[in-house]
Amino acid sequence: MPRRIAAGNWKMNGLIADLAEADAIAVGAGHGGVEVVLCPPATLVAAMAGRFESVAVGGQDCHATAAGAHTGDISARMLADAGARFVILGHSERRRDHRETSADVAAKVSAAWAAGLCAIVCLGETEAERDAGRTLEVVAAQLAQSLPPGADAAHVVVAYEPVWAIGTGRVASPAEIGAVHAHLRALLPDPEIALLYGGSVAPGNAADIFAVPEVNGALVGGASLKAQGFLEIIAALAAARP
Ligand code: PEP
Repeated sequence: MPRRIAAGNWKMNGLIADLAEADAIAVGAGHGGVEVVLCPPATLVAAMAGRFESVAVGGQDCHATAAGAHTGDISARMLADAGARFVILGHSERRRDHRETSADVAAKVSAAWAAGLCAIVCLGETEAERDAGRTLEVVAAQLAQSLPPGADAAHVVVAYEPVWAIGTGRVASPAEIGAVHAHLRALLPDPEIALLYGGSVAPGNAADIFAVPEVNGALVGGASLKAQGFLEIIAALAAARP
């Protein structure tokens, strides 16, 4: 059975004072066979990782090399050194804002593995690609090009995040999610790799999303910033069929 994961992506949000919110998430997490991961900005990784056991901590990006002259970047080794166990790679905001290609993502995944991190690899189609009927072709190409050889369930989690659903409040329908997840599952190099859905997941739609076959959890942006809402999403995942 794939692992079940609720991962929170805090993006560029979170100050020291917000560690209290993470504490509240940690108090309510750690039940029902659901792995909970919080990915705060890099400034909070070390502080969060030393704070609790029930929630794993992840970075939101890493450089493809372990060290060197890359001002402003952070390496996978540094994230691991700060206590992270996961790193989000290939998020659509990085693919868009930093022009990251799937080849760039694959190089970062290799760096994450070398540092002992599990990579949460994001992929998803734009609205124009969906409207053109290219969704399955686009996500299949992103999957093939973003995963280095040897990807397995211990070292990779894949998050399907339709770009048009991220931060928009427009969630993909269960049928849309199901079609993409079934397609991706058949293409995964290890059938046990967890497949997450991401894109406007909220307490009100989580149970419907987790009822979709082949959905093993969620990557949650906005709704992971507040403990109450994120804990409701985690509870919905714990209550869903394994
Ligand atoms: C995300 O950042 O990966 C995301 C899915 O954001 P949101 O839940 O806010 O749509």
